[in-house]
Amino acid sequence: MKRSNSIFKTSLRQLAVAVTMSASLLSTACSADNANTTAKAATPADAPVVEANGGTLFNNVNIFNGVDNKLYNGSNVLVQNGLIVKISTSPIAAPVDAQVIDGNGKTLMPGMIDGHVHLMISNNYSDIIPNEDPYDLGIRSVLVAEHFLMDGFTSVRDMGGPAFALARQINKGVIPGPRVYPSGTFISQTSGHGDFRGRFDLGWSPRGGSDVGVWEKLGFGAVADGVPEVLKATRINLRHGATQIKIMAGGGGSSKYDPIDTTQYSKEETCAIVQAAADWGTYVGAHIFTDRAMNRGLDCGVKTFEHAFFATEETYARIGREGGYVVPQMWGLSPELLNNPNMPKAKLPMVAGLIEQYKDTGRTMLDSGVPIVFMSDWVGTMEDAHKARRFEIWWRTQMFSGGKKNYDGNYEVLKQLTSIAGEMLAMSGPRNPAPAKLGVVEVGATADLLLIDGNPLKDIGVLNGGYTEWYSQPNPLTTPIDTIEVVMKEGVIYKDLLN
Ligand SMILES: [Zn+2]
Repeated sequence: MKRSNSIFKTSLRQLAVAVTMSASLLSTACSADNANTTAKAATPADAPVVEANGGTLFNNVNIFNGVDNKLYNGSNVLVQNGLIVKISTSPIAAPVDAQVIDGNGKTLMPGMIDGHVHLMISNNYSDIIPNEDPYDLGIRSVLVAEHFLMDGFTSVRDMGGPAFALARQINKGVIPGPRVYPSGTFISQTSGHGDFRGRFDLGWSPRGGSDVGVWEKLGFGAVADGVPEVLKATRINLRHGATQIKIMAGGGGSSKYDPIDTTQYSKEETCAIVQAAADWGTYVGAHIFTDRAMNRGLDCGVKTFEHAFFATEETYARIGREGGYVVPQMWGLSPELLNNPNMPKAKLPMVAGLIEQYKDTGRTMLDSGVPIVFMSDWVGTMEDAHKARRFEIWWRTQMFSGGKKNYDGNYEVLKQLTSIAGEMLAMSGPRNPAPAKLGVVEVGATADLLLIDGNPLKDIGVLNGGYTEWYSQPNPLTTPIDTIEVVMKEGVIYKDLLN
């Protein structure tokens, strides 16, 4: 086996970043994390990330192509210039200077996609708002991004937070991480789901001049009311490089002032935001729960419906008919949520009631035919975020199985993690940072690929470490998933456990 340019010096890259930002601060961050990587001195030679000159040839792999409920056994796949250029069951001659990987009958599948994350919210709100500055957020986000990639996620859509710098540095190859689709600030009305201002922030009164809270100064949310303000907030995000726009279109659980049943933003405001995004060739995703809010969003052309738990089958079907997607985090309907140490005790009976009432939500979504995308959407500490994502992979297989049509949970969730999510990301149009199709193994697609020891169609545990519980998992920062043996993004290998 010949191998070259396999880059696996991740802690080294963190170190390089550390040096440019702040040597003293970052050396602590590096050593605190990543027991699975070995820290060495950084040298300039390690900085650029490049694909092997002749590309990479995977021999003898069983392909899950992101679409079909089967493996294509005994296949060979050639990757060049970041794209999949040839797939064949006949031998493919290795180009000069190609690296050749003997797949040994393991599974080659598309890199996974998380449709809704917050890479910059990697601590509890109660710590961030009074105690942290943008550098705390930036430093941690480097580690968060690396862990996403090592867990097999090659693209993520960031649905709120100042992730532009992180996206830039990942795309330049300065640090390892998934391809990031940033939304910038989530845009919220006064008293809406993104309004985190406190009584002592200026602007508590409508006469206030500098109506900006800490949350907004950090770049997480933008409170905007009326068409001129929402247009400005949208255009500011587009100016910074947003690949889509995120709005708060209804109430929720984690916010200060808005009950979950509320509808947020008037039709006039919502339609103005959608129009401004469309003028940039992209679309709007909405935090949303109820039928009423979802139908208002649809009337204006909102395309992705985040969370989206409490709707009728007819509304889900309408979203599908009109080219939209639902992006739910199903842990919100899991009994494990009751074990969340941060959940107020007084809320537990209400949560337990909702879990019982909406236990068939996943099957209702499938029955409606609406395309469904995977999301983990955990905000809080880094450890909890990664645990939530690992748990979510398994829990969804329970929520999206059985029912009238006897759905195959593993297959449904694998599509949500790959091909369907890839179609959703393509709605960013000219703002899409990917060079070609995502979430599929086919000729011409982007070479975001995982080599898996095992068959995820039969055992989803090979993608999440086998965890079926949430809070009691071991620390994910020091517990890598060894069945994800190779992680390739755009032709470049970032994780390689074969050698
Ligand atoms: Zn979110």
